[in-house]
Order: sequence, then C-alpha cells, then structure tokens
Amino acid sequence: MGKTIGVLALQGGFEAHAKILRGLGHAVREVRAAADLTDGGGLDGLVFPGGESSTMLKLIGFSGLWEPLDAFVRGGHPVLATCAGMILAATGVSGPEQASFGWLDVDVTRNGWGRQVHSFEAVSDDGAVRLVFIRAPRLTRIGAGVTVLHRFEGEPITVRQGNVVAASFHPELADEPALHAIAFGG
Ligand code: GLN
Repeated sequence: MGKTIGVLALQGGFEAHAKILRGLGHAVREVRAAADLTDGGGLDGLVFPGGESSTMLKLIGFSGLWEPLDAFVRGGHPVLATCAGMILAATGVSGPEQASFGWLDVDVTRNGWGRQVHSFEAVSDDGAVRLVFIRAPRLTRIGAGVTVLHRFEGEPITVRQGNVVAASFHPELADEPALHAIAFGG
C-alpha cells in the first residue's frame, strides 16, 4: 500500500523526487515546516534531496527544523538522502567542514566527484542503477555498521545504515526509482 512520503522542500531538487515517489504509488508532501512532519497522522518517510548543503543548513536553522528533522529520522522512519542530503546525514564533512546530523556513520568530502568532471552520467558497477553526478560528495570513510549497496569505479556511492539510505548522486534526475524503492518500498 502506498505511503505518504515527505520531501524536504527548502531548496534544491525536490520536484523530481516527488515524481518518482508518485510513480511508485506513494503520496507526497513537501516539507517546509515542523508541522509538515506531523500533520494528518504524520509522514511515513522523508527524502533529503540534492541542492546546496550549506544553504540547506541555514534554511533548516531559520525554519526551526533541526530538532524536528533529527527526531523524525532518529525515530526510525525510512529516509532517502541524496547528494547534498547525504552530506547533511553524514557524521563527518570536509571540503570545507560544516555541521551535519550524523545519522550515517560515514565521512564525505563535498564536491569530491567534481574535481575530474563537474557533472556526468554513468551506471553503477553492477549495472543496476543509472547515476547522475552533479558536484557530488565522495564517501571517504564507511563505518562498521554501514552497508555499501552500490559502487562506481570500485568506490562506494550508495550506503544504508538502519532506516537511512543515502546516495552520492541524483537518482531522481536519471528517472531511476531503485533507491526510492529500496528506502520506501513500492
Ligand atoms: N556540492 C553540493 C553541496 O556541497 C551538493 C551537490 C548536489 O546536491 N548536487 O552541498
């Protein structure tokens, strides 16, 4: 049965995520305020989209969303965090350093895939997932409790720890539903 999934809609690419979620049979709610997480019996899951993580951090602060988002994710709801979203979810962020929620025991370097090419399309090493990289973060440390789901050129690009699935690229821009299906079913 379809769930109601929120997409953090402060900044960045939330509309393409909504399209993929609807395609999987889920209802979608854009999240801009704490009440959006709890209204109508609450959300079943949440997407943290790509965009600019430093700007998102500021907007999360201005909107009073830091604690509600943290409680929602630590409460065990399914979460998909892509690109800038993965940066927010990580334990450690470099290039440059910035605050993060630390839901995922990984370290990332911002724009770590952007040194060679700023933006490119590819396929995961196992051929299962279409990838769009846009100034994507690079995973530089994977904690013991974290599972690597997909790799590109041998390097981890999608990971899972408990209820949190994260991707360094933009599955939604490749019209790729695999990660949303892993995170939320459908
Ligand atoms: N480089 C961006 C950041 O540091 C992330 C890029 C993206 O989400 N496409 O926030």
